[in-house]
Amino acid sequence: MRYVQKKSTPSFFERDTRKLSYWIKYTPSKKRFLKEYILENEQYYLCIYCESKVNMDSSHIEHIEPKSLDIKSLTFDYANLSVSCNGTCFNVSNGNSRHNCGHIKKNTYDKQRFLHPCEIIDLEEYFKYDFDDFKIYTTEKNSKKSEYMIKLLNLNSGRLIIARRNDYQYFNKQLKQIKDVEKRKKFIKNKIKVKTLQFISFFRYKYKHLI
Ligand SMILES: [Zn+2]
Repeated sequence: MRYVQKKSTPSFFERDTRKLSYWIKYTPSKKRFLKEYILENEQYYLCIYCESKVNMDSSHIEHIEPKSLDIKSLTFDYANLSVSCNGTCFNVSNGNSRHNCGHIKKNTYDKQRFLHPCEIIDLEEYFKYDFDDFKIYTTEKNSKKSEYMIKLLNLNSGRLIIARRNDYQYFNKQLKQIKDVEKRKKFIKNKIKVKTLQFISFFRYKYKHLI
């Protein structure tokens, strides 16, 4: 997981939602416009939780704090809105089974243990990765909270593990073709700067000594 900086509430959102009380009244085309705005400007087409690449069809608007907890204050609070993958992952839209992120989390939300991706600036420090099994693990920082998040969002689902492994192996393959050590370092540095990089915190963790 990584920190995502929210922008201030865009004027189109204020205008479109001013008179609305319920999410269902917010039209699909306006929701689509909002989703695209968030993906483009805040999340760079990565899921808010698992950091897998998403597109407009493989994602949904996610109320981080479930709106059912307080419909009045949470439904149209821009700071509470993000974009999650559909849990089928990796742009597979035909699967009905949902494995992780927003659709698994649903309305479960323990405020005491939840690590809010738009509020915790050093969020990446709560997690570490293993490069043999490609799983995400807790760190000493607050293992109760990070453990809660890993389970809540099922961040070690088989699909995510396979996808992390594939991306890592592909990256290594590219690296091996660069013989010069300095050039290799430069390649890594450039790679982990790309905001649209799938599993960006996984790669940043691996190469943190170069950041
Ligand atoms: Zn996800």
